[in-house]
Amino acid sequence: MPESASGREGVGPSRMGKANPGALRAEESDPINHPSHYTSSPARCPGCGSGIECITIAEHYGFNLGNAVKYLWRADLKGDAIEDLRKAAWYVQREIERRTR
Ligand SMILES: [Zn+2]
Repeated sequence: MPESASGREGVGPSRMGKANPGALRAEESDPINHPSHYTSSPARCPGCGSGIECITIAEHYGFNLGNAVKYLWRADLKGDAIEDLRKAAWYVQREIERRTR
C-alpha cells in the first residue's frame, strides 16, 4: 500500500488558503499522494484550520503503533470498519508483545 511522504500540513499551494471543513480539495482526490481515506478526517489544525492527514500523525510513531493509528484513522472511511479495527488491534497487540517479551 503506497504511503506518501508528502502531504504534510502547510506544504503545497492548496494548503495555503483558509480551510473549508467538509469540502474536498482537489488534492484529496489524489489516490496516491493523498488518498481520501487518510485525508477526510474532520481533524483540523487548531492554529490554521488546515485538514490533518493521517501520515502527519502516524509518522511520529514506530511501525506497529503507526499502523495502528492508520487503521483507526481510516475505519469508516474505507471498506470494512470492523476489519480495520481488528487490524489496529493486531498491531497494538504486537507492540504489547514486543515490549513485554
Ligand atoms: Zn496549522
